[in-house]
Amino acid sequence: MSHSATHTIPVRNPRTGQYDYEIVPPAPDELSSLCAGLRAAQAHWEDIGPQARAAVMLRWADALQERGDALIAAESADTGRFRLSREIVDITIAGVRDWARRAPALLAGAARSGQSSIWPNVSFESQLRPYTLVGAISPWNHPLFLSTVDAIPALLAGCAVIVKCSEIAPRFSDPVMDAVRAVPELAQVFALIQGGAQTGSQLIEEVDMLCFTGSVPTGRKIAEHCARRFIPVFLELGGKDAAIVTASADLERACQAVLRGGVFATGQICHAIERVYVQRDIYEPFVERLAEAASRLTLSYPDASRGHIGPFIMERQAAIVDQQIDDALARGARILTGGKSERHGGGVYMRPTVMVDVTHDMAIMVEETFGPVIPVMPYDDEEDAVRMANLSHFGLSGAVIAGSQEEARRIGMRLDAGGISLQDTTLTMAITRDAEKSSFRLSGMGESRMGPSAIMRYFRRKVLMTNTTQPAEMLSIHEDPPAH
Ligand code: NAD
Repeated sequence: MSHSATHTIPVRNPRTGQYDYEIVPPAPDELSSLCAGLRAAQAHWEDIGPQARAAVMLRWADALQERGDALIAAESADTGRFRLSREIVDITIAGVRDWARRAPALLAGAARSGQSSIWPNVSFESQLRPYTLVGAISPWNHPLFLSTVDAIPALLAGCAVIVKCSEIAPRFSDPVMDAVRAVPELAQVFALIQGGAQTGSQLIEEVDMLCFTGSVPTGRKIAEHCARRFIPVFLELGGKDAAIVTASADLERACQAVLRGGVFATGQICHAIERVYVQRDIYEPFVERLAEAASRLTLSYPDASRGHIGPFIMERQAAIVDQQIDDALARGARILTGGKSERHGGGVYMRPTVMVDVTHDMAIMVEETFGPVIPVMPYDDEEDAVRMANLSHFGLSGAVIAGSQEEARRIGMRLDAGGISLQDTTLTMAITRDAEKSSFRLSGMGESRMGPSAIMRYFRRKVLMTNTTQPAEMLSIHEDPPAH
């Protein structure tokens, strides 16, 4: 392997502001030779079959579990979050185990054979052929989860997989790769690499299909790149999720659900609640209660083990959120609680911010914010609420909180987004392995990454066809003139 000069990328710690980690992206020829190795090992990985692959994946789950503390520490350093890092490590390991248990039956159930309904003498047998090398490119907001969510079913499908994690939050990949190396069969077909946009772009040149999670502008570049290579690409992009609160909703329940959906993880989740539409009759008491509840939340500074709101992971994101707030204020919006970003001990924080007097002319109501800001608008009737919630170029998810499940469901059915939480917000994580969900409009492209059928994305379909009688002889095929 040559070690041609590559730029190192310094990585900032979101709590201290220190650049305490460094990435050395692979040189292009190093990346090519890594991919060639993974590609070469894939044939055997496919041959051993789903049961044997599942057994290997279960050993990887054990290896991850053994490194649980190191994983939590690395993901915490990447994100500045503690409790959530613990949860994400548990959810990820459970995901490996669950997929390993389910995959063999799912794949067995997908095989089909039968007889032609057009030419009954032709029988057929379908065959699933995994893509040889699947690439994944992931974002910084949930580094471990979003770097493995596509890789796990792809590996079980029989693909080799290479993941490029975000240059903003790459530390978690060290313990993950350590766990991969502890399972030699897996290490032959699976690698996580560190690097920036350039490495991501080089990766696209190497793979046979790509799963991308990130922003809309990058997603567009990536889709164009994949189109030039004629390789399939699955995009999971940004959102501007709306919550609707109807007049009959329980105020306390609605406030708590909206608040959590808006500010959990400092609003840095793709399906955070970023707009709220409240029926006018309850608008005043709702915003009063929401602002009061929001003002009771505290920053997890100076004691990192206390408080509710951690730092921004990416420093630049805080500036984007500040700009959106300034734009809204300049156009007549008001802040009821919270406000601009604050610097503490090298980190950048923002208190939960509730805004009113907002309109759809403001960036805060139409562009992705990715911060703990909740703009609230009144609506008059259900039509109005549905129209405004659907007034977005995104369509990731949404929420409806109403006085009855029937009312919430009726409205939820009319929302143009892939995952609608009823009587709560941000429930998508709960059904990741259980139900399929598309991302509408600019929020994504391609088949669901969620639910049991997600594993089918990693196959090309082949069919073997047999003539069970004599082949038709060309000599017997006449151009019969029409009878007069
Ligand atoms: P981003 O688009 O800036 O970067 C994502 C990844 O793409 C990074 O690994 C980056 O290095 C890589 N990249 C950048 N340019 C590239 C190029 N030209 N070629 C190849 N790779 C390239 O996104 P981000 O800021 O890391 O993440 C935040 C975004 O991700 C938000 O918009 C958020 O909504 C979205 N997101 C979506 C989901 C979902 O499931 N829909 C989940 C989480 C986050």
